[in-house]
Amino acid sequence: MESQKPYINLHTHRKDCAEHTLNLFNCLIPEGVPEDQPLFSAGLHPWHADKISLEQLTTLLTTYASDPRFLAIGETGLDYQVAVQKELQIAVFMRQIELSRDLKFPLILHCVKAWEDLIRLTHQHTTPKILHGYNGSRELTIRLLDNGFYFSLGKQTMQGSSKFEKALSIIPLSRIFCETDDADLPIHLIYQQVAKLRGIPLPDLKEEIFSTFSHLFGKRHSQENITSHV
Ligand SMILES: [Zn+2]
Repeated sequence: MESQKPYINLHTHRKDCAEHTLNLFNCLIPEGVPEDQPLFSAGLHPWHADKISLEQLTTLLTTYASDPRFLAIGETGLDYQVAVQKELQIAVFMRQIELSRDLKFPLILHCVKAWEDLIRLTHQHTTPKILHGYNGSRELTIRLLDNGFYFSLGKQTMQGSSKFEKALSIIPLSRIFCETDDADLPIHLIYQQVAKLRGIPLPDLKEEIFSTFSHLFGKRHSQENITSHV
């Protein structure tokens, strides 16, 4: 019998409502939050680090923190492949790390070519840290596991990269999420691919991810509350 647990799409920029799926809609600050989204995360992306001031960012995230639909800060992080000044990216990221700690929300992270700084800046961090769109090497994955990160897997999982598949094989199921990000791809296909690569039945993966989700986000939202959005 198929698991009754819903699919969890941990990070999406699309508003589609696939059946039996819980979508965590990602709101890119300074865009506002769409009224019709039952759950959302919000953060200042490193690409947009110069769009608003740190004070404005703090006010916005503090306001979101009292919205029952708000589940996480992000995506935020570092991207050293873009032209936005590193110092500014770090300042904006650090502010969101502090807010995540003070307001007690998990972080959803974007990281490109900035792993050393990301690990250093989040080293002492106490709320959950989830890397989105992850497709790193086995060596990097070992370091990130040691540093307590969670991994959200998306369209990169479908590309058949043997390098990434080696990395995926060592991530405990309790540290895995799935996401569609901006891709027009049903979330169940990503679940199917991850289940296949790990050699486990799909219902087991659904159970596992739902349990991790409830564990990380359930402090603010009881399981009943979460499933009522499906
Ligand atoms: Zn995204």
